[in-house]
Amino acid sequence: MTTSTSQVPLYDLHSHSTASDGTLSPTALVHHASAQGVDVLALTDHDTTDGIDEARTAAAEAGVALVPGVEISVTWRGVTVHIVGLNVDIDNARLQAGLAGLREFRAWRGEEMARRLAKAGIPGALEGAQAFSQGEILSRTHFARFLVAAGHASDMRKVFGKFLTHNRPGYVSGEWAALESAVSWIRAAGGQAVIAHPARYRLSATRLRALIEAFIASGGEALEVVSGSHSAGDVHGMAQYARRFGLLASQGSDYHGPEQSWLELGRLPALPSGCTPVWARWSGVRRASA
Ligand code: AMP
Ligand code: MN
Ligand code: MN
Ligand code: MN
Repeated sequence: MTTSTSQVPLYDLHSHSTASDGTLSPTALVHHASAQGVDVLALTDHDTTDGIDEARTAAAEAGVALVPGVEISVTWRGVTVHIVGLNVDIDNARLQAGLAGLREFRAWRGEEMARRLAKAGIPGALEGAQAFSQGEILSRTHFARFLVAAGHASDMRKVFGKFLTHNRPGYVSGEWAALESAVSWIRAAGGQAVIAHPARYRLSATRLRALIEAFIASGGEALEVVSGSHSAGDVHGMAQYARRFGLLASQGSDYHGPEQSWLELGRLPALPSGCTPVWARWSGVRRASA
């Protein structure tokens, strides 16, 4: 199962493909993971598991252990929070019904974003964004790529601040899944629920504690302590939350493709000591190590 020569398998449990807003196909993503020395890769596309079958086939050929995953969009107390599901059964009807509802909202939101951008003097944004979307979801990332390509912003970071965030012309607020629902779909599908990149929400300590408590009460199990979007201080802080609340710790790059040159698959700091890895009780079948 493994091509790794290192003693400790390398886990990257958060990544995206063209099935959502990544730029590598599931096959190319898996090959890139293999080249980067990743032994265990979770494909966690936004609100879809459409890339999993292709990734599984590629992983079997490349000697990478593929963890079927998903990153579910949630609205909790008005904040958008992402919940990763790991080792989900992608044939589970409850999970798929939940994800289908989120994709419907995405489709409507995309049309509304385009209407608002048209009013702001940018016509054709829906078709423009769709041209960058190869999968079954439409993401703000696809609008961002269109807006940059059409010259409305100079890069992917600036375009969000200019058009795609609160109080900007292309921003549409709305309700994603309830936290309890997202966790229950993941559990129904036999998976483990993980709060993705917890430091990115910039919640106060009180609100982060409330989020974690609600997550645990719903059956959530893990916190993404190590994330490509976490600073060293964030990692340290989130490790403390994981330990204090008895949550397992996950690690993932949140890789979206080679365009984000500062972020690489598998290039992650180690989980701080005292953290129990989310993979601690995974069966040998899913482990890439011999
Ligand atoms: P959506 O789920 O469609 O609202 O889109 C959210 C996605 O946009 C995230 O998964 C990121 O990939 C991307 N994104 C959000 N904010 C930013 C930002 N400030 N800069 C670059 N990408 C962003
Ligand atoms: Mn994304
Ligand atoms: Mn996310
Ligand atoms: Mn992600």
